[in-house]
Amino acid sequence: MRTHLSEPAIFIADAPALDFLNSIATPIDEIVDWIGDADGLLDWLEQSGWVSRQTLEGVAQSAMPGELDGVAAQARALRGWFRAFVLKHQGTPLTPEVMDELATLNRLLERDDGFTQITLANQGPASLQLQPRRRWKTPESLLLPIGEVLAKFICEEDFADVKSCEGAGCTLMFVDHTRGKKRRWCSMAVCGNRAKAAAHRQRKKLL
Ligand SMILES: [Zn+2]
Repeated sequence: MRTHLSEPAIFIADAPALDFLNSIATPIDEIVDWIGDADGLLDWLEQSGWVSRQTLEGVAQSAMPGELDGVAAQARALRGWFRAFVLKHQGTPLTPEVMDELATLNRLLERDDGFTQITLANQGPASLQLQPRRRWKTPESLLLPIGEVLAKFICEEDFADVKSCEGAGCTLMFVDHTRGKKRRWCSMAVCGNRAKAAAHRQRKKLL
């Protein structure tokens, strides 16, 4: 398995929480885990835009040796938990029974040390806005924005529209926000074309 850095992460899910699931994938023929270690996690969080570079640098500087690798391992464990949850429930709307399964995520969310601040939205006529902020007290704080994104997804997305790419061997997931609910592939350029080529070969064989 390779880690990250050699190629940009994949953001095709049309839902940030599923982009997080897709941070381990097999883009060509080798598994790549973009959050396989501390550097990978920091890099992925920056690419996703969930945490600013400035915050990431601050957290990295204050971490003890090896501590961020531990956080990356926790992030992978969280991803594993979320994948099992999504695979179990994809295709149908969530029911109240899922509450029992969400205790893990609620435990993470209750650690959040969030607060809000009034900030200026733009110059010109005063346009004030209330902005969420977070105290990044420990390296584990990096798990909090991840937990928040996963929780929002669970509360706001229709699981009936959560799909796995139909490409052979492709593990990427996405939410189908198309009007006709016809999306089948992670991307037309990758799995869509592969499937088209395979169908073409099949037709030629039949002729
Ligand atoms: Zn695919």
